Amino acid sequence: MNSTEMIALTEQYGAHNYHPLPVVVAKAEGIWVYDAEGNKYMDMLSAYSAVNQGHRHPRIIQALKDQADRVTLTSRAFHNDQLGPFYQKVAELTKKQMVLPMNTGAEAVETAVKAVRRYAYDVKKVAPDQAEIIVCEGNFHGRTLTAVSMSSNDEYKRGFGPMTPGFKIIPYGDTAALRQAISKNTAALIVEPIQGEAGIVIPREGFLREAYAICKENDVLFVADEIQTGFGRTGKLFACDWEDVVPDMYILGKALGGGVMPISAVAADRAILGVFEPGSHGSTFGGNPLACACAIAALDVIVDEQLAERSLELGQYFIEKLREIQNPVISEVRGRGLFVGMELTTAARPYCEALKDKGLLCKETHENVIRFAPPLIITKEELDLAIATIKSVMETS
Ligand code: PLP
Repeated sequence: MNSTEMIALTEQYGAHNYHPLPVVVAKAEGIWVYDAEGNKYMDMLSAYSAVNQGHRHPRIIQALKDQADRVTLTSRAFHNDQLGPFYQKVAELTKKQMVLPMNTGAEAVETAVKAVRRYAYDVKKVAPDQAEIIVCEGNFHGRTLTAVSMSSNDEYKRGFGPMTPGFKIIPYGDTAALRQAISKNTAALIVEPIQGEAGIVIPREGFLREAYAICKENDVLFVADEIQTGFGRTGKLFACDWEDVVPDMYILGKALGGGVMPISAVAADRAILGVFEPGSHGSTFGGNPLACACAIAALDVIVDEQLAERSLELGQYFIEKLREIQNPVISEVRGRGLFVGMELTTAARPYCEALKDKGLLCKETHENVIRFAPPLIITKEELDLAIATIKSVMETS
């Protein structure tokens, strides 16, 4: 089957809940992907930052193969020998005492919501069913019903009601609104330190630090959704590090599995995650040994190859070069590390299609922003190639 036939098959039998670029990836390695006809493209999306370590990183693939030869799934009815080392690694990196594993980002968000609500009832003594969680306008926390209930985007919710109650939305970056929204029933603020899906929206300097202080003053938990921003993407291990904030809870996913296995987690201290007892939460696949083995290798790669430092250095260079591109439709280039948004005054999709035709894969987000987020293993020479391609497309279209 060629690419056209494969796309037709997908369109025929698949629900149309995505609008992918017309490219069929059949093979990948490092920062490169190949379509069914063998055409080569540079991946500048990294599966929404799930492939920070690059496609099929040899250490992660080796861990996958070794583990596949031993045991892949036990359920949590029994212990497995990869779970403890995985917990330890995540706990050490986040400097938290406890970890709870799930599979997808949205499930980890659900886990965080359950944890902070129960903490509010058990520890803060909030009246039954009155707990509130504050979230930010423009957020993206996933596609499950509770995650879309947190959203300010009506399109994410249309036709799916009734929504999960108990969320208050404040403008992103607005600490006065945060103060005002807090009540005696407030369990937590759940916030993305940089809003990825909203179009790489960076809050004003000081917001995270001030919001954290306000939460502390009011006995409110500060929960950072670092699913997309974590593990080096923004030039620090976690985006909260930009303001020296250590959240009460991290929500993690995507690159945690090294682009090989879906695995997500929340990490927090015992005082918070201790609210769960057997039977209160779980997942058949959560914490499975195959995903844990991949995650251990994936985290080792991030640390050993200094991917956060690399992202910081190359990101600054990348942003500088993108800002030199001359085209009046470019209204702003912004980013942290290799997490970059180019905002246009017009639809971004045609530019993404033109870039694809020139061998560079990226995706529009929020209609008019092009997100550039290459695997963090990209070299300066490869980045220069990307810059030349972007320049040629943006200056001629
Ligand atoms: N939270 C954030 C900040 C995300 O960017 C995403 C995915 O893009 C999610 C949650 C949901 O993750 P998943 O798609 O794995 O459910």
